[in-house]
Amino acid sequence: MNEKLSDSESDGPVSSHPFVEELDLLLRARFTLMIVTTSEEDRALRLIAEQAERAQRPVLIWDIASGFVAPAGGAVPTAADPLAALDSVKTLDGNHIIVLKDFHDFWKDARTKRRLRNLAEELKFTRKSLIITTPMVDVPGELSDDAVRITLDGPNLVELDEILTGLEETQGLRNELTVDGRARMIQAAVGLSANEALRCFSKVIVRDGVLNDEDVDDVTSEKQAIIRGSGALEFYPANTSTADVGGLETLKEWIRLRERAFGQEAHDYGLPAPKGIALIGIPGTGKSLTAKAIGGMWRLPLIRLDIGAVFGSLVGESEERIRKALRLTEQIAPCVLWIDELEKALASGGGDGGTSQRVIGTLLTWMQDKKEPVFVVATANDISALPPEMLRRGRFDEVFFLDLPTYDERIEIIRVHLKKRKRDPDNFDLPTLATASALYVGAEIEQALIDAMYAAFNDGREVTSEDFARALERLVPLSRSQKEQIVELRKWLEEGRAQSASFSEQAAAVESTRTLSLVALDLPATKKK
Ligand code: ADP
Repeated sequence: MNEKLSDSESDGPVSSHPFVEELDLLLRARFTLMIVTTSEEDRALRLIAEQAERAQRPVLIWDIASGFVAPAGGAVPTAADPLAALDSVKTLDGNHIIVLKDFHDFWKDARTKRRLRNLAEELKFTRKSLIITTPMVDVPGELSDDAVRITLDGPNLVELDEILTGLEETQGLRNELTVDGRARMIQAAVGLSANEALRCFSKVIVRDGVLNDEDVDDVTSEKQAIIRGSGALEFYPANTSTADVGGLETLKEWIRLRERAFGQEAHDYGLPAPKGIALIGIPGTGKSLTAKAIGGMWRLPLIRLDIGAVFGSLVGESEERIRKALRLTEQIAPCVLWIDELEKALASGGGDGGTSQRVIGTLLTWMQDKKEPVFVVATANDISALPPEMLRRGRFDEVFFLDLPTYDERIEIIRVHLKKRKRDPDNFDLPTLATASALYVGAEIEQALIDAMYAAFNDGREVTSEDFARALERLVPLSRSQKEQIVELRKWLEEGRAQSASFSEQAAAVESTRTLSLVALDLPATKKK
């Protein structure tokens, strides 16, 4: 939950809204051109109007459909096109705040852009200010020198409270919310836009005409649905823990050590919140499983970012989507953001290398600058496609390499999966199975067990070690079919660019040399130690 919001804003007046404060500061500092990035135009206009009223400045709003409008009344200039609008601003007499809606549609035109820049310069000698509201995050380079940019984030707790209060006044509504339930309901809507929150609250009310504590869960599910609808983000239930992960001791220890990292105590102790880790390795070695286990262990919401879904067909759309998705995660923080198959960011760019570069750039910059405790778990199967700066030390707290499991790790993995399927590992010949699964990854071991269980089930008997061993034998592991990829990954590891997820640095070097030769020479694996 967002403690920052609840600490600083829950009991303050709306006028202490961070956006309004920033706007106030910029207006007083006499900035003449401000670009407000928002997907909630109405709300931005309301907050701007609020600030204007406090500063006793008249507001004029222009858009291509209606021309100029003065919401508080008064004379308005006529200007049907963007150039005429800019010219009219120049001739206005007073200390107006002029809002231009959707001006991104026009600033692509060289003349309009030049006129806008000139106007920003000329207004310095007046008391007028220009504000452009736009959902676009892309601003032409030249304009970013003349303009200051502000982002309007989703509503805070106070605004969400107001939205709920508005609905509570609905005629005939039976309001049975407790004080605690009400606070939880507001908290559950954090991360939504004002309209989305309104729809969410309305929906749970309309369903039965009653508002009670049970509706909190519905608001949470509604929010999850909305976030899923955003295309790129997906919620995962926190039902996995490190007990579900076999082997990978170093990695699990790292996670265990940071279990309380996002709590107040760790903060008071002077510890920085962990930034994130990258998990690199062969498919099926438990990277996704570990990401899920972190969410479960740390009891934080786990959100998966589907990089592929970020890519849109329109120019600028992809960057906008990723920015929106990342901002949303900051509003849900503290949380774990799992960026699955990082290499897809490059592949999905298709022929347009520029777009994927910009998306990756946006992601890297965000990782560097993010203020909220969003812990990033990035997973990748293929390092050859990743730009080196992606995994540069400092970007992540640690880069872990997940190798083929060792003998001991395979014993553990087999145990995990037997228990998961309600079988007692003591009834199985674990050493034989671990030897038979040499060079198999966790996912393949699991698959073999399922195959074995099906075979036994169809024969109408209990599954045995022999079934399991036979299933392993039938399966061709990836390490055999994609040997080159594994050798490539290992070489990369040997360059010292990652920490082994299974061993300490020293032991890893020994193990890596040992198994590398196994794969390279295609020798059957031997029992470790
Ligand atoms: P990756 O993300 O590395 O491609 P996954 O984490 O998706 O692999 O693995 C797929 C499945 O294989 C997991 O859900 C889990 O059931 C099993 N698995 C893989 N590695 C392990 C492991 N180390 N311990 C237990 N199960 C594993």
